Amino acid sequence: MNRTTRKKKKIFELYSQNLKWIKEKTNAKFKKEFEYGVLCPLCLDVFLESDLVESKNNFLTLEHNPPKSLGGKDNILTCKECNNKSGHKTDVELLTYILELEFKNFRPNSKHRTKLVNKEGAKVTADLSFDDKGKMTLNLQDKYSNPKDFKKFIDSEERGVFPIEGEIGEIATTKLNFI
Ligand SMILES: [Zn+2]
Repeated sequence: MNRTTRKKKKIFELYSQNLKWIKEKTNAKFKKEFEYGVLCPLCLDVFLESDLVESKNNFLTLEHNPPKSLGGKDNILTCKECNNKSGHKTDVELLTYILELEFKNFRPNSKHRTKLVNKEGAKVTADLSFDDKGKMTLNLQDKYSNPKDFKKFIDSEERGVFPIEGEIGEIATTKLNFI
């Protein structure tokens, strides 16, 4: 038995014990009858110990939780179909969510891409970030902004204060100094 198979088996044993307990103590309903099994956390289908073996059919795979890109460990079981279909998508969405969450908490080294708009309605894309000392920096992204709007924004007579759109604006501050 290789390392991956051993690990999968260990996780299966742990989770199936938990699930057995849940079945006995609650009225939870499952898609099929089983004694020892685990649920794929994405599709909630029931998988048995025999599904640990790689086969032509859907089987259990080792997945990182949280995503590997966030330093997660391969410590949960998801079915192959879900792993293929939504694994990457889930990772990206989760990563974006966590980065936003860090930003909202003003975590050092966090950043968030947002839009700024001036009184004339010129909209630009900007990256707001905090460095490791908590200092906030605002970088206007001309590459990701409409060139006309970008010029209008820069040329705006009212240099100094721009409201930020959206919830980040409410959380960060309603006004920003533009330098
Ligand atoms: Zn699944």
